[in-house]
Amino acid sequence: MRERFWERYSLGELNSKEWEALCDGCGQCCLQRYVDGNMVTVYGVACELLDIDSARCKDYPNRLRKVPSCHRLTPTSVPKHYGWLPETCAYRRLYKGKPLPAWHPLLIGDRSKMRKKGITVSHYAIPSGSVSRRQMERHVIARWPVSRLQKRRATGAVTPKTRRP
Ligand code: SF4
Repeated sequence: MRERFWERYSLGELNSKEWEALCDGCGQCCLQRYVDGNMVTVYGVACELLDIDSARCKDYPNRLRKVPSCHRLTPTSVPKHYGWLPETCAYRRLYKGKPLPAWHPLLIGDRSKMRKKGITVSHYAIPSGSVSRRQMERHVIARWPVSRLQKRRATGAVTPKTRRP
């Protein structure tokens, strides 16, 4: 990986290793969510393929086939999907011209600081299938507005996503 590549190159100029390294592994994009009107609602309920302990996808190569609402995140799809990613997500931040968060593993060298700050879904996500549709409202953990432009670009309603181009 090139030195401090996240500051020197645009998302589209990154190689696959650099692209992957931007993901801090928080797992927040693998929580169930719903887009209704202008609002994104995020639930503390994991995607069926999320391994909650590691906050990693259990079947990354086949995720798009197994979970039709999963999106492939690429330099060209970030403009369409960034509104569904959390504020802390490096893809969203770099796309918006913001720096990496101070606790990011690329700056610290490991995940110790992000773990200390609780930037992982491992300690609160509950398994997919453990909540009925009627109970979902009790598990809302965040809501934020989607810009009109994004709404026009976006299709579908939900989103665990993916990181690899
Ligand atoms: S893509 Fe972003 S939100 Fe998803 S796990 Fe990686 S850093 Fe977290």
